[in-house]
Amino acid sequence: MKICRNCGYVGNEKSVTKGSFGLEIALWILGFLTVGIFILIALPYTIWRLCSGEKVCPKCKSNAMIPLDTPMGKKIAEDFKIKIEEK
Ligand SMILES: [Zn+2]
Repeated sequence: MKICRNCGYVGNEKSVTKGSFGLEIALWILGFLTVGIFILIALPYTIWRLCSGEKVCPKCKSNAMIPLDTPMGKKIAEDFKIKIEEK
């Protein structure tokens, strides 16, 4: 469980991929049309997109979510007046 520092949402983060899927496809098509020149650009772009996946809050889309079971997480939960069930 995680809590959002921005809006106080408690739950699981959502994964988002940076960059544009359309641009990625366009680079690959150009890569095949130009027999390889654009593949030199398309390949690193694809790898960058795969590596730069980000976890964000599903509610406010900020990447400020932190684990709830940390002192900081508990403090934020208190600030947002969210009850945490002790395990
Ligand atoms: Zn949020």
